Amino acid sequence: MMFPISDEKVGVAMFKEATDLLQEYFGYDSFRPGQDSVIQYTLSSHNSLAIMPTGGGKSICYQIPGLMLDGTAIVISPLISLMKDQVDALTSLGIPATYINSSLTQAEQDDRLQQLRKGNYQFLYIAPERLESAAFMNTLSSIPLALIAFDEAHCISQWGHDFRPSYRSVVATLKQIPSLPVMVALTATATKEVIQDIQQLLNINPNYVVNTGFARNNLSFHVVTRQDRTDYISQYVRNRQYDSGIIYTATRKQADQLYDRLEKAGLSVTKYHAGLSEDKRKQAQQAFINEEKLLMIATNAFGMGIDKSNVRYVIHYSMPMNIESYYQEAGRAGRDGEQSDCILLFSRQDIQLQKFLIEQSNLEEHKKAQEYKKLQAMTNYCHTSSCLPTFILDYFQDPSERIDCGSCSNCQHDGERADRTKEAQMVLSCVKRMGERFGAGLVAKVLKGSSDKKVKSFRFDDLTTYGLMRQYTEKEITNFIHFLVAEGYLDAGEDRFPILKLTTAAADVLKGQIQVWMKTGVVKSEAQTDYDEALFEELRQLRRQVAEEKAVPPYVIFSDATLKEICRYLPTSEQEMLVLKGVGAKKFEQYGEIFLEPVSAWLETHEAPPRPPAASVSSALPKKESSSSTGEASHLVSYQAFIDGKTIALIAAERSITERTVLTHLLKAGKEGQPLDWSLFFNEEEEQTIIEARTDSDEQKLKPLKEALPEGYTYDMIRAVLVKNGFMEV
Ligand code: ADP
Repeated sequence: MMFPISDEKVGVAMFKEATDLLQEYFGYDSFRPGQDSVIQYTLSSHNSLAIMPTGGGKSICYQIPGLMLDGTAIVISPLISLMKDQVDALTSLGIPATYINSSLTQAEQDDRLQQLRKGNYQFLYIAPERLESAAFMNTLSSIPLALIAFDEAHCISQWGHDFRPSYRSVVATLKQIPSLPVMVALTATATKEVIQDIQQLLNINPNYVVNTGFARNNLSFHVVTRQDRTDYISQYVRNRQYDSGIIYTATRKQADQLYDRLEKAGLSVTKYHAGLSEDKRKQAQQAFINEEKLLMIATNAFGMGIDKSNVRYVIHYSMPMNIESYYQEAGRAGRDGEQSDCILLFSRQDIQLQKFLIEQSNLEEHKKAQEYKKLQAMTNYCHTSSCLPTFILDYFQDPSERIDCGSCSNCQHDGERADRTKEAQMVLSCVKRMGERFGAGLVAKVLKGSSDKKVKSFRFDDLTTYGLMRQYTEKEITNFIHFLVAEGYLDAGEDRFPILKLTTAAADVLKGQIQVWMKTGVVKSEAQTDYDEALFEELRQLRRQVAEEKAVPPYVIFSDATLKEICRYLPTSEQEMLVLKGVGAKKFEQYGEIFLEPVSAWLETHEAPPRPPAASVSSALPKKESSSSTGEASHLVSYQAFIDGKTIALIAAERSITERTVLTHLLKAGKEGQPLDWSLFFNEEEEQTIIEARTDSDEQKLKPLKEALPEGYTYDMIRAVLVKNGFMEV
């Protein structure tokens, strides 16, 4: 235990202590990006703001300083439903923690307040409203406080999409505490205005804002255009029968219908929407969290405050209203960092449905206009052929570097493309000839050569473009127009009834200066797992039993990531188990032996595959020494393993990171001067060709570059050449 200290003292020794706690309590051997900085700022008494994606590991940013600093750490969170989970997770690690909120009886609240006064808690979770109680404030003023953490800090800001006035007023109230401790604000969603607002309110110097961006590298995004959505879902869910998933529908009716279908088909399914009684909703939520039911079908009423970390897929049954809510809902997948899918099933009538919902809403006119604008961006997402996460990051103006993900439905496309320049020119010139005053529907009719009344009344049947695309269906033409909007050749404006206008890129297409390519091939199938799935299922069932006995959610015991580590490494002793990600000494004490047993039994009846030597990888390599070397240690671990002769795939599996991350590690090490045989990635001719293509184009993005290169030039190869030759940072 220690008191907050000055910057200089937060040095190597302190970081060693923080890293030891990370290992001992949480079972991780290195910090995720940004965690170390936030911890360092907090320990040196600088108020800070952490902007990290969902699943980025925000809790550890305040939990580790909370363990190190004297006094109780107060965590303010507007999500009452999450508090119990967080407290369960801490107590399961042997850390004294509790929450006080309106879900408790007065007697329970009083009891906990008394314990608080006695200094019996290291962590206390509260909702903002709690600070309105004079008795509570008196207690806070009279006890030593380690820090104050503001979870979901965007709710403090009036610019945040979830603004809560009671959260904002908290800050003024807190200032009454005579010895106010260091404060740390955390959020996954923050625009520039929100960041500035939080900084101002909490007095946070810009140097202490840590923004790791929005990117969620473990999520694979897919857009699937289908009419038979229920069939698609039934099939997908059957293939993933051991995984938890959420299916979001746009309306209650859709949720009910889909639930009936899937339930009848014998799937483990429950449902949640605002039309159900509170009791029913609670039951459904509990059944999903406790894994009695693996599949949740819900409207957007479900999810706020759901912290289930092992949701393996989120499917949107139809297109949501905007990218903000899509990313938030889809982002409920894979909080534990494991590979997960986010699938959006799209059909053109979704656009009409969303327009109808906006029109029916009670929003003021200017708000409605904003919603139409957002809906247009969402529609563009469904039609783009660019990398999907890149599209989202661009939308949020995320500051991080853009690298095509390689795993979304657009990146995974088999590469077959067709030249659609001619068709694009037909559409664009038709839009122009119609005076840039109409939407996709009418333009499609004209191109189809429809004898629709409106076409005739405007005399569009006299245009040279009338009937120019009659070999296509009207729907195909409309879809193609949407594609042109998504790709930036047409601007659809921001109104309820989008009016098509040509962009500057359209002029280039019309002049024949750029070509328009459209993907036509199929999306490749999924990758395979590298562990025994039956054993994983056995461990999952065991986890469920243990969780039931302890009355905590299963993922509080061990995350899916840790169970998979167990299946990969097949540990047979405490020592072997402790090197696994997510197993610290504290966790082992409680659950280690229970989970070793089925592994031994499994080994008796199966021929064990060669086990990756997890222990040797982490022990033989340099340990992280200070915050600034966090990234280095991690990339050197991968590098060393590579030099030891392991393949990129094996290193990725051993370290539970993606192959792309391993490659980045290797490139970083090579760039820093570690000996690296670049010829493993490309030969001289390939290097030359890539450099020439890169020099010929102003394009910074990888995808256009890849498209300009001959077949067989992979993203990895291109990245390696660009990094080696200084065109790209790692
Ligand atoms: P957030 O609050 O940012 O959504 P959490 O704090 O819930 O994220 O963390 C998400 C997951 O990442 C948890 O399972 C957590 O244990 C894990 N995690 C956090 N820090 C690390 C780390 N340094 N290494 C590996 N896993 C981590």
